[in-house]
Amino acid sequence: MNPVPAGSRLLVVDDDCLLRGMAARTLRHAGFDIVEADSGEQALSVFEATPFDLVLLDVLMAGIDGFETCRRLRRLPGGARVPVLMLTGLNDTESIDRAYEAGATDFITKPIQWVLLAHRVRYGLRSAAAADAMRRSGDSLARAQRMAHMGNWELRVGGQMGCSEELARIFGAPAEAMQCASADAFLERVRDFDRERVRQARERLQNEGMPYQLVFQVERFDGVARTVFEQAAPVRDVHGRQVAAEGITQDITDRVEAERQIRHLALHDTLTGLPNRDFFLELAAPALEQARRSDSLCAVLQLDIDRFKSVNDAIGHEGGDRVLRVIAERLQAGTRGADLTAIGRHGGHVEVLARLGANAFTVMLVDLDRAEHAAGAAQRLLQAVAEPIHLAGRDVQVTASIGISLFPRDAREPAELVRFAEQALYEAKRTGRARHRFFDETMNAEASARLAREADLRRAIGNGELRLHLQPKVDAASRRIVGAEALVRWQHPERGLVPPVDFIPLAEETGLILPLTDWVLEEACSLLAGWARDGLPLVPVAVNVATPCFMSDDLVDMLSARIARHGLQPGQLMLEVTETLLMSDIDRAVARLEALRARGFRLSLDDFGTGFSSLGYLKRFPIDELKIDRSFVRDVQHGGKDGALVASIITLGRMLDLKVVAEGVETDAQAAALMAQGCQLHQGFLYARPMPAAQFRELLAQRLPVPLPLEVA
Ligand code: C2E
Ligand code: CA
Ligand code: CA
Repeated sequence: MNPVPAGSRLLVVDDDCLLRGMAARTLRHAGFDIVEADSGEQALSVFEATPFDLVLLDVLMAGIDGFETCRRLRRLPGGARVPVLMLTGLNDTESIDRAYEAGATDFITKPIQWVLLAHRVRYGLRSAAAADAMRRSGDSLARAQRMAHMGNWELRVGGQMGCSEELARIFGAPAEAMQCASADAFLERVRDFDRERVRQARERLQNEGMPYQLVFQVERFDGVARTVFEQAAPVRDVHGRQVAAEGITQDITDRVEAERQIRHLALHDTLTGLPNRDFFLELAAPALEQARRSDSLCAVLQLDIDRFKSVNDAIGHEGGDRVLRVIAERLQAGTRGADLTAIGRHGGHVEVLARLGANAFTVMLVDLDRAEHAAGAAQRLLQAVAEPIHLAGRDVQVTASIGISLFPRDAREPAELVRFAEQALYEAKRTGRARHRFFDETMNAEASARLAREADLRRAIGNGELRLHLQPKVDAASRRIVGAEALVRWQHPERGLVPPVDFIPLAEETGLILPLTDWVLEEACSLLAGWARDGLPLVPVAVNVATPCFMSDDLVDMLSARIARHGLQPGQLMLEVTETLLMSDIDRAVARLEALRARGFRLSLDDFGTGFSSLGYLKRFPIDELKIDRSFVRDVQHGGKDGALVASIITLGRMLDLKVVAEGVETDAQAAALMAQGCQLHQGFLYARPMPAAQFRELLAQRLPVPLPLEVA
């Protein structure tokens, strides 16, 4: 039996050298490491140099006595917890009391029973070790509680509470105050609106042994409110009788706050801080429910900034964001506070303002007297948006359009009201922008028809209903074919051959232009490859590339891969892009054009002259060809403004070393006028209409000038 590690260091203090020697010898014999001191003073200085595991200390000594030595020793580093056994006279109860008061751990009476001495010492060491272990685990529990902001408590039968230190900290209370707090005092700290709930749960716990878990708010002693989570259960004795209740109370304020922030982020637009679509729908639902009950009229206004993309292009995205924030503020001001009465005068008020899209805001008005009042509010909001916006160094002015849907007339569900307001907005934009439009059934019909057409077109692309026609580009002097433009048609099972004007805009709006262009490119490449195989003269084929295709990031790689797969040269493919496309984001467009040019593709600028401010920019575009738009060619033979414009385009093209193609040449007079100005490349009905690929192949094979004496319709 030796649980105490041998070699524990003991300090034996006695001024009686005989007794001290005896004790030291006995204990050394039992395996302890002994240091002797013959006075209190010496004991203190030895202990200060190296701490000991246990001190055996005589009470009566010359110089400072044992009591004083013990008291001072307790104050030394490592002295507070060392077990101190005091040697007192037998039956000297007063000394025994004084020994405890001075901080002794235990006492041994004289005369010393030498056979028992080593046992007493071992016992002293063991209980000190046990106390130490307990303190350590108590410390780590307290630490764990502190980290988790979690305190525990016990509620005894008499209504007294016992609390851990951390619980006191959660309540911002002095530890002593909490140690002896009553259950009622504890309940006092629970905030008014939660108190009854907590009280009932505690009562059921105490009376019926029913455990509980609750989240509630407390008010700390310093007045700060915190949110806590509390979990409590009964404590039972071995017979199953409830003797107390215990619980843990955790401060979850930070977690609740973090969750609140996450929820805020999930439900608000970060740019303007307004509710987003999800939150709008969440807020709108109860407002509509209320309107349903009170049988009142509501409106959803969908506001969209007109041509916001060009604002972004003009002043950059950061500037665009600032504009959006300013507009959000104006809408907020216009739908709240003073201006609210302007709407409210007509008996309505704003329930929600939200940002539902990149440049789209949504306002919900409730309690309207009449539908026209929504129109009044819309006009006021449009005016607010149209005020000049002062940004650093420049004024920006934008307009907006608004679509309005009404509850209950148009729809009863928030999402549907928004959808109908969006359809009305679409109409407002289509009919000229900077205005508001109410939703009506025809719009809905129009929107469903659009959806049906979209589905129809999607199917057509997959089903092989598209056809590629080719129209020659001709050298007017020789009337020989120098190229071709690929023009798509839709062979509709019921509608017959549908021209591109009837489905290309829809394809662009819906994104179907991507698979469509894919099909056109593939078809054009396989035609070229077929001609090459058959040894026909190879002329470049031009394909029209709409914005979404031109801007898609993998365009260049996709084209190169396709060309390689068909064994073609990139120069055999020409890409026609419009001026408006390039102008929408000039820097990106130039980079894209350069990348295409570097891979060897040829580039043509389509519909030239119809865009804005293009002449200045033309220098920047690395292109091969200019196509003069049909509208200028129409009257070219009469001179006049169109004639002058055509002349200047041709001169410009020559200066920039570009080929210039005139589109839509229908008459000999037009052709002659163009030739006289030096424009030799023509495309138009005068030479040939767009024709099926097989027919174009015939033309190529015959290597004859166009138009041919063909009896084709
Ligand atoms: P565009 O690129 O300007 O194509 C030329 C259009 O002018 C063609 O109309 C052509 O038939 C027509 N045209 C040619 N010569 C004459 C003429 O002498 N007189 C008149 N009045 N018209 C002439 P189409 O084929 O109906 O194409 C219309 C537009 O549809 C095209 O205009 C182009 O913007 C678009 N488009 C056609 N095919 C595609 C395609 O595959 N992809 C894309 N993205 N757009 C296409
Ligand atoms: Ca074209
Ligand atoms: Ca054109």
